Amino acid sequence: DMYMDRQNSLGRDYSQAVDRERHALALQKVDSEKLTSGPIIGGKLRVGTHPQAVTNPFDTTQVLGHVSEAAEADLDAAVEAAARAQIAWDRKGGVGRAPVLRAMADALEADMDRLVALLSREAGKTLNDGVAEVREAADFCRYYAMLAERDFGGPQPLQGPVGELNSLVLHGRGVFACISPWNFPLAIFTGQIAAALAAGNAVLAKPAEQTPLIAAEAVRLYCKAGLDPNLLALVPGRGETVGAKLVAHPGIDGVAFTGGTDTATAINRSLANRPGPIIPFIAETGGLNGMFVDTTALKEQVIDDVILSAFGSSGQRCSALRLLYVPHDSADALIEGLKGALAAQVVGDPSDPSTDIGPVIDADAKKMLEDHLKRLEGDAKIVARAALPAGSEKGHLFAPTIAEVPTPDYLEREVFGPILHVCRYDPAKLRETAAKLAARGYGLTLGVHSRIEAFADEVVRLVPAGNVYINRSIIGAVVGVQPFGGEGLSGTGPKAGGPYSLIRYAAEKAISNNI
Ligand code: GLU
Repeated sequence: DMYMDRQNSLGRDYSQAVDRERHALALQKVDSEKLTSGPIIGGKLRVGTHPQAVTNPFDTTQVLGHVSEAAEADLDAAVEAAARAQIAWDRKGGVGRAPVLRAMADALEADMDRLVALLSREAGKTLNDGVAEVREAADFCRYYAMLAERDFGGPQPLQGPVGELNSLVLHGRGVFACISPWNFPLAIFTGQIAAALAAGNAVLAKPAEQTPLIAAEAVRLYCKAGLDPNLLALVPGRGETVGAKLVAHPGIDGVAFTGGTDTATAINRSLANRPGPIIPFIAETGGLNGMFVDTTALKEQVIDDVILSAFGSSGQRCSALRLLYVPHDSADALIEGLKGALAAQVVGDPSDPSTDIGPVIDADAKKMLEDHLKRLEGDAKIVARAALPAGSEKGHLFAPTIAEVPTPDYLEREVFGPILHVCRYDPAKLRETAAKLAARGYGLTLGVHSRIEAFADEVVRLVPAGNVYINRSIIGAVVGVQPFGGEGLSGTGPKAGGPYSLIRYAAEKAISNNI
C-alpha cells in the first residue's frame, strides 16, 4: 500500500564521533567559502540590486556571504522563462515529474552535512534541528512525488450515460509564487516548491530575507537533480518590495505563503486588487498554541514535552507552545519541575553538538521579545530564565523565559520566540478557559496532557486546531504522519505533507466526450 510502504528520511547521531567529525569538516568548509545568493534565473546567478552581507545570528561579526535582491526586470524575465517551461513540464504528467523530485530528495540527503552546517550558521539551527529539517525537505519531495503519480497519473474515469465518456484530469495552473519563512529556510522553502512542481507548475521562489544562502543551495540542488532550470527561479529580497511586486505580477497564477498572519492578510488584500483572473492563495501562518494539563497527567512527561514544545528551535516554530494551562492542584509541582528542566538546557552556539537552544533570528526578533517581557512586568511573574554563556552579546541569543501570567488574556497574539506563558486554571471551569483561547481566532496546534480520554476529547472540541497532540510534544510534524497546517488566523489549508496537499496547486478539467 503506497501510504504504508513509504519511508521517512534517515538522520545523524551526534553522540557518535564519526557524525561529529563530518559536521566539523562541513562547518569548516562553509566558513571558508564566500557564499552568494541573488536572483537565479534559468540556473544562472544574476547581479541584482541592494547587495547585502548575510551574517551569523549567533555571532554577527561572521559574514557568511552576500545576497542581492531581484529587480523588476528579473521578475519579468523569471516569469517569462517559467511560463514557457511550464507547458512541457505539465504535459509530462505526474509519473514523468516524480523522478526529478525523488532525485532532489536524494541530493538533499547526500548533502546533509553541508546543509546542516549552513542551517546552523545562517538560521541559528541546532544540529538536531538542522538534521530534522534536511530530512523533512527530503520527505516533502518524496511524498509529493507519490501524490504526483497518484493524482496526476492520467484521467480519472467518471460515470455517465451509455455513449458518453467522462473523465477528470488534474493539471498545473501555471507559475506559482512561493514565499517562505526563515524559521524553516530549507524544509518549507523546498516543500512549497516541490508541491507546486509536483502539480505541474513552474515556480518563482522568494526566500525570507534573513536566509537567502540556504535557499540558493536548494535551487542549485534542484537543478543538479535534473529539473529544467527555467522551471524554478530564485527571487530574493525584502517582503515589502520584492514580495509585494511578486504577488502583484500579472504572470503569477497562484501564491503559496508561509509566514506571519499580518503578511498573509496583506497578500490576500493585494490579490483581491489584481485585475484579471482570480488566483489561489495557500497560506500557513501563526498560532497562539495552548496545552491543557489535568491532574492525571504524568509530571515528568509533561515537563519534557513542554520544554521541547516551547523552547525547541528557540520557540521559533509556528507550532510552538505559547500558553501552558496547569491545574491549581498540581501547578506548584509542575512549575518547579519546569524551572529545573529549563536550567538544564544549554543555550549557546547552535553549531556545537551540545547546544540545546540557539539564538533568535535577528535584532528585531530579540527586541520584540524584550519589549514583550517589559509589557508583562508588574502583572506577570518571571518564574525562570535560562543562563546565557559568556560573550552572548556578539549575537542574538535571548534567554529562554518562563512567565506566569494571572490570566491568559495577557497573550492576544503570537509572540514568536522562547517565552513560555504559564497560567493556572480550574479544570472545573475548562469550558470558560478554553473559550477565551478559542476566541483569539487562531487554530494551529493544541496539546493535551491527561490520562482521561473524556478530558482530551472535551479540550479538542473546545479549542480549534489543525494539529492536536495528546500526551506528547506539539512540535515537529512529520511528513505523511502529521499533515501540518491550521485554520482561522492560522491558515487556509491544505495541510503540508498530507494526502490533499496538492489540490490547490492544481486546476481540474472534466472532459465529457459523446463518442
Ligand atoms: N511543521 C513545523 C512543526 O510541526 C512547524 C512549521 C512552522 O513553524 O512553520 O513544528
